[in-house]
Amino acid sequence: MESRIPLFIANWKMNKLAKDVQAFVIPFNEATQDVSAKSERVLAPTSVYLSALVVATKGTSIHVSAQNCGTAKSGAFTGEVSAAMLKDLGVGWVILGHSERRHIFKEDNNLVNARLKAAIEEGLTPVFCVGEKLEERKANQTFIVIENQLLGLKAHSEAVLKDLVVAYEPVWAIGTGENATPTQAQEVHAFIRQWISKNISSTFANRTRILYGGSVKPENSSQLMAMEDVDGLLVGGASLDPLSFGEIVKKGLNS
Ligand code: PEP
Repeated sequence: MESRIPLFIANWKMNKLAKDVQAFVIPFNEATQDVSAKSERVLAPTSVYLSALVVATKGTSIHVSAQNCGTAKSGAFTGEVSAAMLKDLGVGWVILGHSERRHIFKEDNNLVNARLKAAIEEGLTPVFCVGEKLEERKANQTFIVIENQLLGLKAHSEAVLKDLVVAYEPVWAIGTGENATPTQAQEVHAFIRQWISKNISSTFANRTRILYGGSVKPENSSQLMAMEDVDGLLVGGASLDPLSFGEIVKKGLNS
């Protein structure tokens, strides 16, 4: 198995003002300095603060991610931010298909796949989110839903998908305080890796990082990271505080 460097992403959603974004970087970087060489750390603020965060993280190994990107390079798309613009700002990563985009803003698989295409054409690292709703899990449809969400990846070669990251985020676990058990997470992560192996290639599957997200906190990060196919964590609420997110990273690495 090729090595997959543990990856920790903070999704700040629509939280924090400019002063909070700036104030996060120094304490978080200090808290995780000794593990910075054996992990990758990514912060995803709202688009208006991306520039400020690119500046604030200069000289650190912390990466900056957007929370979404438009499908076109430019044009009449009011409210959208293109992948080209993100690249222009020095942003290297983008979260796509987050559950809140899919369910609150009704982004379907076609739209998420179009965003993916735009992101990879600009060379951004996509964090491609998938996950089932509670009623889908209860109806034993988890794997069907996840497979449908993954299908768009098939349109691209592994050379183009390159550093793709997949994030498994069960909708019922996001912001609810109820995380998937490590066993539940492992089961879906293994399914995702097998799907990638079968539909793209086994070498690509072995090097693709699959993150878990959904009510991750310092108390559960090491158990989740102990699972064979959990390569990192995508964290919402508990990533808003630099020391809490720092604990998640450090405990996750001690699994
Ligand atoms: C998320 O927003 O991606 C997320 C997993 O949120 P939370 O950690 O708050 O459940």
